[in-house]
Amino acid sequence: MTTAAARPESPSDFIRQIVTADVAAGKNGGRVVTRFPPEPNGYLHIGHAKSICLNFGVAAEFGGICHLRFDDTNPAKEDVEFVDAIQENVRWLGFDWKDKLFYASDYFDQLCKYAVELIRNGKAYVCDLSGDEIREYRGTLTEPGRNSPHRDRSVEENLRLFEEMRAGRMQEGACSLRAKIDMASPNLNLRDPVIFRIKKAAHHRTGEKWCVYPMYDFAHALSDAIEGITHSLCTLEFEDHRPLYDWVLDNLDVPCHPQQIEFARLNLSYTVLSKRKLLELVQHGHVHGWDDPRMPTLAGLRRRGVTPEAIRDFCERIGLAKRDSLVDVAMLEHSVRDDLNRRAPRVMAVLRPLKVVIENYPEGEVEEMDAVNNPEDPSMGTRKVPFSRELYIEQDDFREDPPKKYFRLSPGREVRLRYAYLITCTGVVKDEKGEIVELRCTYDPATRGGNAPDGRKVKSTIHWVSAAHAATAEVRLYDRLFTHENPGLEKDGVEFTSYLNPASLEILRDCRVEPSLKAAAPETRYQFERQGYFCADAVDGKDRLVFNRTVSLKDAWARIEKAES
Ligand code: ATP
Ligand code: MG
Repeated sequence: MTTAAARPESPSDFIRQIVTADVAAGKNGGRVVTRFPPEPNGYLHIGHAKSICLNFGVAAEFGGICHLRFDDTNPAKEDVEFVDAIQENVRWLGFDWKDKLFYASDYFDQLCKYAVELIRNGKAYVCDLSGDEIREYRGTLTEPGRNSPHRDRSVEENLRLFEEMRAGRMQEGACSLRAKIDMASPNLNLRDPVIFRIKKAAHHRTGEKWCVYPMYDFAHALSDAIEGITHSLCTLEFEDHRPLYDWVLDNLDVPCHPQQIEFARLNLSYTVLSKRKLLELVQHGHVHGWDDPRMPTLAGLRRRGVTPEAIRDFCERIGLAKRDSLVDVAMLEHSVRDDLNRRAPRVMAVLRPLKVVIENYPEGEVEEMDAVNNPEDPSMGTRKVPFSRELYIEQDDFREDPPKKYFRLSPGREVRLRYAYLITCTGVVKDEKGEIVELRCTYDPATRGGNAPDGRKVKSTIHWVSAAHAATAEVRLYDRLFTHENPGLEKDGVEFTSYLNPASLEILRDCRVEPSLKAAAPETRYQFERQGYFCADAVDGKDRLVFNRTVSLKDAWARIEKAES
């Protein structure tokens, strides 16, 4: 456990307030057991991170434990690939479920027994209506439902039919097992919900063993009770399901009755967080897989260079609410910068190189300049950066005809090369098309380290690399995947994919980075001075240098906060 497990003095949100009160009152013997219950039908995303941080965080703060439970009740969409990725993601985020790894599918036998118990007590029945008919009979918010013609089957008949369902003697869709609650209930979830359905599909864990599968609401409530969960924290869309959750537990002989508490799910601007939509992005090739650095998945964020610490910090900052809202993605970027600013070593990398020849610098000479690894953290030390007659600087750092307030290099102008010398531009070399291909400069040998003994000032410091020593790298500049603030809305039938940002990825193949980066291990994060934070790509970076831009340096969120204060 890498997160602080100290319980705050005063509970910071409504869920922690409830748990604090429960513990104080000795409810559940003062125990706190939570669970994070993903369905293994996709990769975890930043919204799941909110739920993970909450569930594991609350458990840790109250000396309890959080279970990782796979809610694997729908064989059609689930896969071991997702089971494995989810475990890796939760661990990467910094949480540990110890030996509390569970699968709802491990409870199928027990869930069948509970179903039989309901039947025996006259609280469940086998219904032959089709899915469409069930929907039709259910009524609407303004109209009560109608009873199924099979609602009053005898206990014996129901037991026999359910046994036939379970034994595979019925066709898929021929019938289902429904809870007998109230077809006139104002809550549609209580109008005799289906609790078991026939599905002739192989399951990634139980194989061909089952041809009936429990429905989510039934399985979820009972899994919580079987595991002795005390607080079942879930997102707001389950609020209307809570009466059913409680009904299931009230009408069965269960070991305990966990308390379901709902909180608002995370919605992030310029981002979609629905697994269905994320799957569509992957399947239709809008991105290069679940771990594409533009994806809001934990795998994508990780590959992009976002740290688990930054995600946890973000989840803490956004807090918990009872109402849905849209969180500004700039807030996530702020947490990322905050963390990387402290920890990422600074290096020099030239993304769009322009050659510079220092005419009065001796040919063949190389000097090792001392460069600070992180001014925020002196313990990170210094390194040597080679300086020589031929360098690369950023194309952007030169203007032949500088506009007002442009203080970087231009003909006749002097600037500081970071950690090196002051140089003055003396000439421009162009190719036959008139494009600038090289700058001629002179340096002042008395300015080693960057300051002039005569005290003259230069207005600009630029970064550089030594041409002969630099490594060539590919750099991928990522931008927001969507151009619309809330692409998931799909108002007026507009597909969310129509808001895809065509410029979400720019690949620069001829960047030059300082030699210390030649050995960059996958996933190492750096600040490229004056540009942003970058991370060595873990997938394509195995035999060449590939860096993904995590985030640029400018902090929109800090500006927003400042403007508001
Ligand atoms: P879908 O995207 O299909 O609606 P889901 O997000 O509910 O699926 P699950 O695997 O069931 O996916 O989610 C596991 C847990 O994570 C649930 O408890 C769910 O409430 C929570 N969760 C999912 N999305 C978010 C989100 N955006 N913010 C906070 N919690 C979330
Ligand atoms: Mg779900």
